[in-house]
Amino acid sequence: MPDLTTIALMIALSSGSSAISVILTGRTHWREGSLLMAMTMTCYGLSYVCISFMASPNPTQWFMAAYAVFACGQSCWLATIYRFYQIRPPWWLLLCLPLWALLLFTLAINQPELRVRLVSGLFLCSEIWGLLLLARRRSEPLNKGSVVLVVGVLMFCSAMLLRVFLPNASLTLRDPASSSTHLLLSFTILFIAMHLKSTGFLLLCSGRQHNRLQYMANMDVLTELPNRRALMQSLEIMCGQAQLYQTPFSLLMIDVDHFKRVNDACGHQEGDRVLTQIAHLLQTHVRPHDIVGRYGGEEFVIACPNTDTLNASLLADRMCHAVRSAVAAHHAQETWPVTISVGLHVCYPAEAQTLDHALLCADQALYQAKTNGRNRVWQQDSTHASPAATASVDA
Ligand code: GH3
Ligand code: MG
Ligand code: MG
Repeated sequence: MPDLTTIALMIALSSGSSAISVILTGRTHWREGSLLMAMTMTCYGLSYVCISFMASPNPTQWFMAAYAVFACGQSCWLATIYRFYQIRPPWWLLLCLPLWALLLFTLAINQPELRVRLVSGLFLCSEIWGLLLLARRRSEPLNKGSVVLVVGVLMFCSAMLLRVFLPNASLTLRDPASSSTHLLLSFTILFIAMHLKSTGFLLLCSGRQHNRLQYMANMDVLTELPNRRALMQSLEIMCGQAQLYQTPFSLLMIDVDHFKRVNDACGHQEGDRVLTQIAHLLQTHVRPHDIVGRYGGEEFVIACPNTDTLNASLLADRMCHAVRSAVAAHHAQETWPVTISVGLHVCYPAEAQTLDHALLCADQALYQAKTNGRNRVWQQDSTHASPAATASVDA
């Protein structure tokens, strides 16, 4: 079995390489605190370098240094969590941690057992502090990262508990050639815990990045509604469910009337504001399970599962009225009323329509609403829709 000096040095080396990999892989997560995490691992590694000098003529000084550097690592770890959640850390409290470790060590310098108990208890408290912070600030959904991180923190706590309740085990450090089972166990648990903490943190960062990218890929930046890609995915799912449960669903294709004129008269910025306001209005008027998305430039689609003709036309009328009475474009003391036209199509399970066909019907209904004077709802019967008809309309 390797002696304790070798084990301590191996842990130091592995913590150092872990710090380097956190820096390299966490380059894109500096705002999330990856540099602080690397500093945490560096401090842990340095404390084990100090421990490896246990065979020197004056080991107490080395232990003192090891505890102080380890406490710095704990401060960096807590700062990492604060940074990850973008909270301003209580720096004075974090800086106090190494000072407390030194103070407790000095107070019990001649009572090794008490010394181990006090300082390990302090580290245990700091770890519980971190755990509470993680639990209270769980703003993102649980993922692999948070599970790995919490397992690491719990293992760290158990290693510290072992030291608090079996302080004698740590004292065999005076004889590096000895291999106390408890000490080896505590070394091993701490070693795994430290690495789980750094791995969990990186997983947490990449999970957050993944969520952010997914949000960006699915959201329309201007209106913050689902974009066409996300909308089509949701529509496919809704269409499938309607067929499975044999329920009707309604599609509302909405287009802003004469929007080009709004842009030309009031400017694109005002046009953007109007689009955002309409998107917000549509969202506030639908039911929680309805889907609203931006289909194209100034076109939106609302899909209502389990909704028949009567309810869908009531909803469409409500939308038209809401926009007519609440939205206007402004420019140089002038106000331009804004209205929408809505093409409505209801799919009944007996017709077994595809999503493309349903969208085509809604689009043709929208065209009818436009040609019949705009600012109105038009309902399309599926039997009157055909690709050829749309082509002639578009031409
Ligand atoms: P109609 O009543 O027939 O729909 O007339 P319209 O002027 O609304 O239709 P048209 O398709 O000619 O014009 C749509 C305009 O919407 C053209 C385009 O510049 C504008 N547009 C599309 N997307 C945006 C956007 O994100 N912001 C702004 N400001 N304008 C947009
Ligand atoms: Mg338009
Ligand atoms: Mg249009």
